[in-house]
Amino acid sequence: MYNGIAASRGIGIGSIIRIIEQDLSFEAKIVTDIEAEKKRFQKAIDDFVEETTVMAEEIGKNIGPKEAEILLGHVAMIADPSMSGEMFSMIETGQCAEAALTAVCDMFYGIFSSMDDEMMRQRASDISDVKESILKILLGVKDVDISKVAPGTVLVCKDLTPSMTSRIVKGNVVGIITEIGGVTSHSAILARALEIPAVLSVPGIVDAVSDKDSAIVDGTAGEVYINPEGDVLSQFIIKREEFIKKKEELKKFIGRETLTADGDKLEVFCNIGTPKDAQKAMECDGEGVGLFRSEFLFMDNTHLPTEDEQFEAYKEALETMQGRTVIIRTLDIGGDKDIPYMDFEKEDNPFLGFRAVRYCLANPDMYTTQLRAIVRASAFGKAKIMVPLVTTVDEIRSVKQLVAGIKDDLRAEGIAFDEEIEVGCMMETAASAAIADLLAKEADFFSIGTNDLTGYTMAVDRGNAKVAYLYSAFQPAVLRSIRTIIECGKKEGILVGMCGEAAADPLMIPLLISFGLDEYSVNPVLVLTSRCIISKWTKAEADALAAKVMAMDNVKDIMAALKAAAKE
Ligand code: PEP
Ligand code: MG
Repeated sequence: MYNGIAASRGIGIGSIIRIIEQDLSFEAKIVTDIEAEKKRFQKAIDDFVEETTVMAEEIGKNIGPKEAEILLGHVAMIADPSMSGEMFSMIETGQCAEAALTAVCDMFYGIFSSMDDEMMRQRASDISDVKESILKILLGVKDVDISKVAPGTVLVCKDLTPSMTSRIVKGNVVGIITEIGGVTSHSAILARALEIPAVLSVPGIVDAVSDKDSAIVDGTAGEVYINPEGDVLSQFIIKREEFIKKKEELKKFIGRETLTADGDKLEVFCNIGTPKDAQKAMECDGEGVGLFRSEFLFMDNTHLPTEDEQFEAYKEALETMQGRTVIIRTLDIGGDKDIPYMDFEKEDNPFLGFRAVRYCLANPDMYTTQLRAIVRASAFGKAKIMVPLVTTVDEIRSVKQLVAGIKDDLRAEGIAFDEEIEVGCMMETAASAAIADLLAKEADFFSIGTNDLTGYTMAVDRGNAKVAYLYSAFQPAVLRSIRTIIECGKKEGILVGMCGEAAADPLMIPLLISFGLDEYSVNPVLVLTSRCIISKWTKAEADALAAKVMAMDNVKDIMAALKAAAKE
């Protein structure tokens, strides 16, 4: 068995076809007829642009516009004068087209491949794809025709370039194994878009196999089996069936309302970290954004983001969500989350220190800038404000006062905003759970942050391995807090959501249904799974399980009971 990076989920079983690298060696000649060489090179570029544009159109039709952009990026790259101009200048000094192309591409490759940023390293692999394609044209080397491979083929190659991917006929290729590439490489993106199981970064795989071999590609676990037989093969045939069945089952939930088995309407929202992620939330059929972590605006920056910079980011997320709710959490930094230009003091207990709403209320100018940006953006969709790390009623009152003042100012300035914009409370401290009844009278909504609620309730630093066994949202203490928070919210008639990781835990879902949670905010890729699990439980079944579990006094018994009752 070979291990690699699990880049595209699913199980593929089939016969291997290797795509061996072609010999692209050439003799670097000194050219005398420079004009003719420049013409030859221009012709190769023109052919490359034409072929690539056609391929991009095909990809656009067969896969999607975003994937086509990858190839169009190659066209733009060679059209960039800093690249092709440099190549022509080298030809003018008497170098042949092949040598000029190679020298310039290798120079750019060297620059990009040494950068830390994954996106920049990706540019390096784009450059070598462009170089190879144009060299093949100059040398008259023809590629293996991937479009003609037989059904049931597992492609094995060093790297799957976008130009290769554009020729894949979905249905014929059942798996992909490469020697290089990571989860965010273009080959991974394209494999996922084509829904072909892929395992990348398997060192030496091209030389280790031959075209007579068969293979299992487990793109979920990142495993490859060559010439599988007996039990292994039959196990994976079953696994493949199960995967396909589950995928089909989940597809039924696209565009559907989130309903329990007896028809209670709930909502599955998404957690996002940047405005661009809102696109992902839409693609994954999220019914809203339950947590937009605004920290990225401050962390990926060299200065405090201005009101306009923040406004644009919130507006983008709101417009992308097309009227669906977007809950923007105000700045949750300080303590351990350092921002160099903000000059935080070192603290002995950063998790219990000067952070989140505490820091924001002590810096009203900075906080007002953020709140004003959110209130202004509320004119472009359904925005809600969420306050992190609340431990007292006064904190939420103070934020509401600031918001009221901002509304007065905006009214006076004639700037549009949503008069009904809500201010809610993130329920993630032991204190907030203990005074949930009081907070529910002041807040417009609750969202339970189980990641921190677990830590603060259990008094556990989750980074400390010695006490990590205590860190579980299924601990009786945490479950009771969750139940109390939901009950208190319901009593005051406010909406209660959950944006901690536990909201997507299949074992937690029946308990949350029983407690009465309204909105489940999860990683976008888990929207359909969560909607599917919710659909399997009736309120009565969830209540019976919750009654049993809430009477238990330890996490081990609780987990065992939930696992025994799980519906997956
Ligand atoms: C939480 O604490 O549960 C939460 C969602 O917030 P974060 O993980 O950003 O602290
Ligand atoms: Mg938190």
